[in-house]
Amino acid sequence: MKILNRCSIDFTSIPENVGFARVAIASFASQLDCTLPELEEIKVAVSEAVGNAILHGYRNKPDHIVHVTATIYKEGLEIKVSDEGVGIRDIDLAMQPAYSTDPERMGLGFVFMQSFSDRMQVDSQPGKGTTVMMFKQIGLRGARARAN
Ligand code: ATP
Ligand code: MG
Repeated sequence: MKILNRCSIDFTSIPENVGFARVAIASFASQLDCTLPELEEIKVAVSEAVGNAILHGYRNKPDHIVHVTATIYKEGLEIKVSDEGVGIRDIDLAMQPAYSTDPERMGLGFVFMQSFSDRMQVDSQPGKGTTVMMFKQIGLRGARARAN
């Protein structure tokens, strides 16, 4: 797939940056021909993935870096969120609805990310970190859609 536009942001692992990433990526994605509900889904998916990187990956320690890359292809939008945190031992188990390693939480983050995505992939290695890739088919707007 040909890259039409890409942005990458790296930021400190503090909860305040969940809102920053959410708005930054939604703003980048707004050049796509997405509906308001789709934009809302993008925000939720980014928040869940970034929240997980900070809370689980970095165990809420504020001195690490979260990476988010958004790429626009003719075919749609790809969002990658990665951390170099603790990693996930059993990815299939972690992705099950209502599964959480924290009894206080709902375990629904991956469910939201999955419902946003047409394709989703989680790569993780214990002790090395986690990357969540989400892809959603969304067209370009007007003239750019015709040009590409
Ligand atoms: P909720 O998102 O509903 O607040 P949750 O974060 O526990 O709860 P999910 O987002 O679905 O639920 O994640 C499921 C589990 O996967 C987490 O409890 C955690 O154990 C693991 N996990 C998810 N993301 C990461 C990550 N980046 N690094 C390490 N573990 C992760
Ligand atoms: Mg979560």
